[in-house]
Amino acid sequence: MAAGDLVGAVLRSVLAAVLSTPWLIGVLLLAIAKVVGLGRAVVHGGHGRDPRRTFSRAEKVALLERAGHRCEHHSWLLGRCRETEALQADHVHPHSRGGATDVANGQALCRRHNRGKAARVPWGWELAGMQRRRRAYFPPGSVTAVVRHGPRVRSTGVRQIGAVSGARALRNVPVDAD
Ligand SMILES: [Zn+2]
Repeated sequence: MAAGDLVGAVLRSVLAAVLSTPWLIGVLLLAIAKVVGLGRAVVHGGHGRDPRRTFSRAEKVALLERAGHRCEHHSWLLGRCRETEALQADHVHPHSRGGATDVANGQALCRRHNRGKAARVPWGWELAGMQRRRRAYFPPGSVTAVVRHGPRVRSTGVRQIGAVSGARALRNVPVDAD
């Protein structure tokens, strides 16, 4: 039997097994999703963590202000969350995955939606949707795009000299130096 025939036979038997047990398809899809998620976490984690994890007071004020002091969580079924109390400053692209602690990577979330958010790397189309929705509620002239990563950092946590951050270039509000 030629190698090509053997591969074909193996693929056919795998396909037959999957089709005869439908739950295997679900397991297979979950496994693929998990592998893709881990791969993206590794790729984005390569940017290194921002040495600063928490947003400054001024950054939080700016995030809440441009969001109209309302949670920015959006669900396809219910639309935008209506919560306006006890809002928190959150990283759109998670800090643990190399997300910058910067207004350009920030969003206002209510406690419930901040708690329920896993350290998942958002897809580009999710950010595009967010940017589109933000045009409707951000003050005119504000930058609505999300910039995931700041400048690459050395292992010492010191920002590289001469590195210009897209996030910082896009920053539209003055921020404390702390
Ligand atoms: Zn909410």
